Amino acid sequence: MTIRRLPEGLINRIAAGEVVERPASVVKELIENAIDAGAGRIQIKVEEGGTTLIRVSDNGCGISREELPLAIERHATSKLENETALSNIRTLGFRGEALPSIGSIARLSITSRVKGSQEAWQINVNGGDISAIEPAARGVGTDVIVKDIFFATPARLKFMKSPRTENSHITDIVIRLAMARPDIDFSLTLNGRQLFNLVSELSMGEGRLTRLSHVLGSDFHKNNLKIDSQREEISLSGYIGLPTYSRSTSQHQYLFVNDRPVRDKVLNGALRGAFRDLMPSGRHPVCGLFLSVPLHLLDINVHPTKAEVRFRDNGIVRGLVVGAVRHTLSLAGHRTASTVNFGALGSTASVHQNNSRKVDSKNVNFSEVTKQPDFVIEEPQARPSENSDDILSKQNLSSSDEKTYPLGVARAQVHATYIVAQTLNGVVIVDQHAAHERIVYERMKKALSEGTVKSQILLIPEVVELGSSSAAFIENRVAELASLGLIIEPFGPGAVLVREVPAILGDGNVKGLVQDIADNFAHLGDEDTLIEKLHEICGSMACHSSVRAGRLLNNEEMNHLLRQMEVTPNSGQCNHGRPTYVELALNDIEKLFGRR
Ligand code: ADP
Ligand code: MG
Repeated sequence: MTIRRLPEGLINRIAAGEVVERPASVVKELIENAIDAGAGRIQIKVEEGGTTLIRVSDNGCGISREELPLAIERHATSKLENETALSNIRTLGFRGEALPSIGSIARLSITSRVKGSQEAWQINVNGGDISAIEPAARGVGTDVIVKDIFFATPARLKFMKSPRTENSHITDIVIRLAMARPDIDFSLTLNGRQLFNLVSELSMGEGRLTRLSHVLGSDFHKNNLKIDSQREEISLSGYIGLPTYSRSTSQHQYLFVNDRPVRDKVLNGALRGAFRDLMPSGRHPVCGLFLSVPLHLLDINVHPTKAEVRFRDNGIVRGLVVGAVRHTLSLAGHRTASTVNFGALGSTASVHQNNSRKVDSKNVNFSEVTKQPDFVIEEPQARPSENSDDILSKQNLSSSDEKTYPLGVARAQVHATYIVAQTLNGVVIVDQHAAHERIVYERMKKALSEGTVKSQILLIPEVVELGSSSAAFIENRVAELASLGLIIEPFGPGAVLVREVPAILGDGNVKGLVQDIADNFAHLGDEDTLIEKLHEICGSMACHSSVRAGRLLNNEEMNHLLRQMEVTPNSGQCNHGRPTYVELALNDIEKLFGRR
């Protein structure tokens, strides 16, 4: 066995394998260099997914003639002076690997001019072969051109995806970097077509919202909540979308640590946790969240692409994100997405593209509005409800209170399902069932955490026939069900006896609730607890309680429900993430009738 030193060119190609995964990685490295150079404007041009051409131009500090050869030398950097500086890195780059790696696998050309110099200089590297330095012409700043990526490593070339795929990766990384630095102008041109030209913003905070809205659509402006929080030395700021403003992938979660775009399991997990019981499955929140972490609590030198970071204390970071997001969501309380409001109008009114809030009156189905409600006669219930913590308990309200209540004063119930309320500036339509479901869930969660779950004793215990497997399941879970306020005993083969029910159920359907729980959770493994299924269970409770769709409510009951919604956290959407109400502004109603 002979140990040999690898030639420099080969070392660079091996390093390139780590730094340059695809054209988008080149784009990322070049933009980061421009940012580190203090550029105020960065222009990116890409042809054919970056396979034939990537060009990044900046107006930063430039590279002098003397330093051009160093810039393409491995482990040569202007950003790291000594060993101790490694724990104090404020630049995006510091490893001195990007340019030599790119030069070893593609045709690289750097043209640069420093401030105070009369001329620009150019250096070329072709698959590792370095040219002589030649004079060139340009203003202060740097142009980096990368052609024929992977031409020197044919094996890698074979793994290239279609230009379309590469373009979307490139767009994504440019957007992330542009979001991190709203103080810099960014333009991106793909195959000669300018995709965007973002002008720098004066304020970083507002600028971030503007850039986020640029990516997510202008309606994000109306559907976001601002986050601003701090824990120990770590601070978190940014914007999250309302839960009803969700997406079908997690792609639009933009996370940054010290202005560096990152993909991080801790942050992703925290975000999922924070939104957990507000999102229907398969939906994902959108956000732009910016963590500012002191360098001694962070390691960014984990991976050559630096897209991963390591926190000294994951717990603090997780706690900060979950706490701040949850707190902000609960303050937003009953707010629901304005976009969903209009989407939800569906059959009555269509919304103009890009959501300019115009209502097309042609599609209004007036018969829906004027039709007599379908009356549902409720059977009188034998059970007293005095001791129940009934959400519809009596309350007096004067009809002039609409000014003080965000959800207004109930004026009517239609189809025994929707409450129509008059607000200061319009009309609110509440899905009574969905709203009630959310209230039940939030109350239950609070009661559980405070150990104050209330139950009500049934005057006549109810026997529920379940069949043996379901009955066995319920019998195994008697203790857990008791903690939720359901007191149940075995009652012969295939049946159970219900003695007490959660107070929140009101005059509801005991049999339906127990059957539901048995059916829906029979498949649970022994290690799964019912509490983990709390929102489904609360969904069942709401479903079988007294406010379900189809129940007629009187004025007091409706108003009480509205007031409960106003004070219940997250009441803008039900447990399945659907909105619980929609709001029609007077403005929009006027447009509907051509008054505006
Ligand atoms: P790193 O960014 O880790 O230092 P690179 O290989 O990306 O390593 O770049 C090497 C050096 O070249 C940088 O340290 C910097 O001094 C110089 N450089 C690269 N790109 C630019 C640019 N756009 N403007 C000014 N200097 C640059
Ligand atoms: Mg770099």
